[in-house]
This record gives sequence, C-alpha cells and structure tokens, in this order.
Amino acid sequence: MTQIVGRVPRGHVVRAEGKTKIIWVRIRKRKKRGLAQNKPFVTAGDGKHREFVPGKEIAVTETTCNIFRLLNRSGIPTHYHKKINADTYLISLLDMIPIEIVVRRKAFGSYLKRNSHEAEGTTFAQPLVEFFYKNDTMSDPMMIWQPEHQCFRLYHPHEPPEERGAIGDLKAGLDPLIPRNEAEIERLEVIAIEAFLVLEEAFKHVGITLVDFKIECGYDQDRRLYIGDQIDGDSCRLWMGGDKSKAVDKDRYRNIVKQGRVPTPEERALIIGDYQRIATMASSFGLMGL
Ligand code: 5GP
Repeated sequence: MTQIVGRVPRGHVVRAEGKTKIIWVRIRKRKKRGLAQNKPFVTAGDGKHREFVPGKEIAVTETTCNIFRLLNRSGIPTHYHKKINADTYLISLLDMIPIEIVVRRKAFGSYLKRNSHEAEGTTFAQPLVEFFYKNDTMSDPMMIWQPEHQCFRLYHPHEPPEERGAIGDLKAGLDPLIPRNEAEIERLEVIAIEAFLVLEEAFKHVGITLVDFKIECGYDQDRRLYIGDQIDGDSCRLWMGGDKSKAVDKDRYRNIVKQGRVPTPEERALIIGDYQRIATMASSFGLMGL
C-alpha cells in the first residue's frame, strides 16, 4: 500500500511503510542508516480512520527531531542523527521490538478502562510503565510478565485483566526481540522512564503536563538498545496547565472519530494548530539549555 505523498529521496527505496511514516534506505551502500519521512495524515483506530492534514508532516518532524535531540543530549540513546529537510530525518536502522511501551504520570486513556476503580487524572508518584504487544489482529494486547513461566501473558487492552482472563501467551524464545527475562524487561523500563522524566521536565518549562507517552525501542547489530520510531503529538498526551480540556494532542481527533464524525473545517484547523503548537514548544527545548 505504498502511498508516497512527499518527495522521494534520490537513490532510496522503501524499507517499511506505516500509517504516518515511510522508512527509506539507499539502493546501494551500507544499510545501517535510513531516512524517516512523515506523511500528512492523522489516523485513529489502527488506521480505520484517516484524514489528510497538509502541514502535519512538517510539524511532527520538527517536534520529533527536537525531542530526539534533547534525549540524545541527555545521554538517552535514540536512533536519531539529523534533520534532512522539512519532513525527513536521518536515523540508524534498528531491529524494532514489537512492543508499545507506555509510561503514565496520570490515570487516563486505556488505563482507566482496565482500572475502573481509579479516579481519572490521579497522579502517580512514580511513572507507571506498561507493555502492549504490537499485533493488529489482537488489538495490541497488554503484556503481563509471568515470572514462574518466564514469558508474557496477553490481556485485552480495554478490560480489567481479571474480567476476561488471558487471551494468549507469548511463548518464551518465539521472538528473540521480545524480552526473555527480568533483566531485559528492566532495561526497557529504565530507558522509557528516563526518557519520560526528561520530556516531562522539558514540557513543564513551557507550561505543559506530559500525561503519558508511547515509545518503541530497537536493537542495532551489536544488540545495543535505542529508542526508535517517533515521539510527537500522536504518541504523547499533553495538557496545557495540566487541564484536560486544554489538551493539544491527538485526543482531539480521537474524540471526533469516537462520535462517528469527520472533523469540520474549524476542527481541522484546531488539529493542525495543535501539531504546530507542539512543534513550536519543542523547538524551544534547545534554547532553554535543556
Ligand atoms: P492509551 O493506552 O491510554 O490509549 O495511550 C497511552 C499513550 O500511548 C497515549 O499518549 C497515546 O497517545 C499513546 N499511544 C497508544 N497507542 C498508540 C499508537 O498506536 N500510536 C501512537 N502514536 N501512540 C499511541
């Protein structure tokens, strides 16, 4: 379903294509690095809903480049090298771990569906980490480690685990990229929490509460761990002044879709405005000496 909207980088072919991004590699030459190019689409519900939002690709590229620069400067390894042009940046190619790692400071989103006793917006003293297995047919189930079996058990992401029980098992050793023991799990948790704390502090400087985020990690050829994928307004919940009604993230689009609608022209303007606002804030991270 290749759907190239931006410029095709000269001498490159598609290595992978997602709903909002294309990864390119050189036709010849070493294949340790590639280009990540953003697309001008906002999507929801595993790509079932999609809007063409011109300019989004530029805003999220600016955001993610500044976020990755900040993490690199803070000693947290990421796949980012440098921005190439308005919608494209240079990355190290990684073997991606098929896990969405979510870190939460507040109880919100799918957490509330699994923990209905918890009040919305409760602040966790320590950031909470959760793992979701990237698997569209199973709707990205939650992964819970079973120490006695040394493997993960899978649970529906929107129901309390005890309600339906396990919906599957990730057999140990089936995928070498999935953590195989507590030490490998801890490495992922540590890198995710460190990144969250750096970004939480940076967004605090511009008056924004980082409610939660999702990252993805991968290994290079020497099995060194890096943060990969992208961190932007699609993968973070960001509330101005800690106020849910002043969210500047993708929840605006998700909420419209939940009502069974497509955005009005006014709402489209607000959606692109949010992405641009986050990009402007992220561009100030370098100036703040962070
Ligand atoms: P939740 O599990 O509450 O739906 O989402 C937690 C956090 O992870 C939110 O910041 C949300 O934006 C992010 N997130 C969850 N699933 C995805 C996904 O499929 N793609 C992206 N980009 N972010 C996600």
